[in-house]
Amino acid sequence: MNTVTRRVVLTFPANLVEDTAIYHLIKDYDLVVNILRAKIIPKEIGRIVLELRGKIDNIKKGVSYLESKGIEVKPLAQDIYLNEDKCVSCGMCLAVCHQKALSLNKNTWKIEFNRDDCILCEQCVSVCPLKVIQVTF
Ligand code: SF4
Ligand code: SF4
Repeated sequence: MNTVTRRVVLTFPANLVEDTAIYHLIKDYDLVVNILRAKIIPKEIGRIVLELRGKIDNIKKGVSYLESKGIEVKPLAQDIYLNEDKCVSCGMCLAVCHQKALSLNKNTWKIEFNRDDCILCEQCVSVCPLKVIQVTF
């Protein structure tokens, strides 16, 4: 079975912030886990952006395991939003997106956002003069 990669956002409730769930993803589900971002406050909520790599069945089982523990798992794409109606295609965000998740469509002259490549670094959020990119991480 092919190896696939999935990017997800985990939200830990306060009682699970110091849990060993990620260790079990690696050990019990044979997944390669890359932490892209983390915001954890002990005894409060924790959020982690993870890249999971492994067999698709193992990723599904790993996600089910996390959910069974009360950890919310969402695809990364749900946490960033580009308001295309308000974007003026100035291109400032393109220069700071090292992942190349943002690009200019030279036919429509509109900015396109490839969610799969975004790692939620927020560089584009801070440079956009119109604040049309929002991250809800
Ligand atoms: S958050 Fe970072 S990776 Fe995602 S589109 Fe913006 S600059 Fe690119
Ligand atoms: S910086 Fe903002 S307004 Fe300019 S192209 Fe990017 S998203 Fe659009």
